Amino acid sequence: MQDGGKNIMLILSSPSGVGKTTLTKKIQQKYQSFKISVSNTTRKPRSNEVDGLDYFFISKEKFLSLVNEGKFYEHAKIFENYYGTLKKNVDEIIVSNDIIFDIDWQGTKQLSKFKNLNLIKIYLITKNKEELKNRLINRNQNTFKEVEKRFNSFDADIKHWNDYDYIIINDNLEVCFKQIEKIINNQKSKLITLIN
Ligand code: 5GP
Repeated sequence: MQDGGKNIMLILSSPSGVGKTTLTKKIQQKYQSFKISVSNTTRKPRSNEVDGLDYFFISKEKFLSLVNEGKFYEHAKIFENYYGTLKKNVDEIIVSNDIIFDIDWQGTKQLSKFKNLNLIKIYLITKNKEELKNRLINRNQNTFKEVEKRFNSFDADIKHWNDYDYIIINDNLEVCFKQIEKIINNQKSKLITLIN
C-alpha cells in the first residue's frame, strides 16, 4: 500500500450501536479532506442503506472471487457475512484525501501490517454493556436475534482493544467528536512539522 504523504488513515472500530456511523459522517462533514472508505459486503442492505454509498452490496460468489484475485487490503467474516476494503478504492482516495475506515478489529489487524501509513486506530465504546444493549434495541435496525448476536460479541471484541491507539467512550456525541477532532488535528500538525 502506498503511503499517503501527509494524508491520514483513520480507523474507527466499535461494537455495533456505539454511534460510529454518525461520528464518521460528522467527521466527513466538518473535514472535507476526509473520504469514507466504502466497503464491499455480502450482507443484505437495510431499508435506509444505499448501494455504493453505505456499502457495495455484492454476492458471496463475487466477494470470494475478489478475495482469490487479491483485490482486498483487508477482509473479514462478521456475523455470517463478509466485509472487505478494496485496494483500488483506497489507492485512489489516499492520493489526495484522508480516509476513514469503519472496519472491525480483524480488518484493523490486517491494515496494521502495512508499515509507514499514517494510521490512527480508535476504538469506540459505550460507558457500559447495558447502554450498548439499549442502543442496539433503540436503533431498531436488527431483529431480536441479531441484537443478541451483536451484543454477545462484545466480550470477544473488547479482547482486541490492545491493537488500538485510543479507546474513547461515546457517552456524549459532541464530547466524543471533540476528542476525535483533537486526535486528528494533533496527528495532522505532527505530519506537517515532519514534512516541512
Ligand atoms: P454492519 O453490518 O452493522 O454494517 O457492520 C458490521 C461490522 O462490520 C461493523 O463492526 C463494521 O465496522 C464492520 N465492517 C464494515 N465494513 C468492513 C470492512 O470492509 N472490513 C472489516 N474488517 N469490517 C468491516
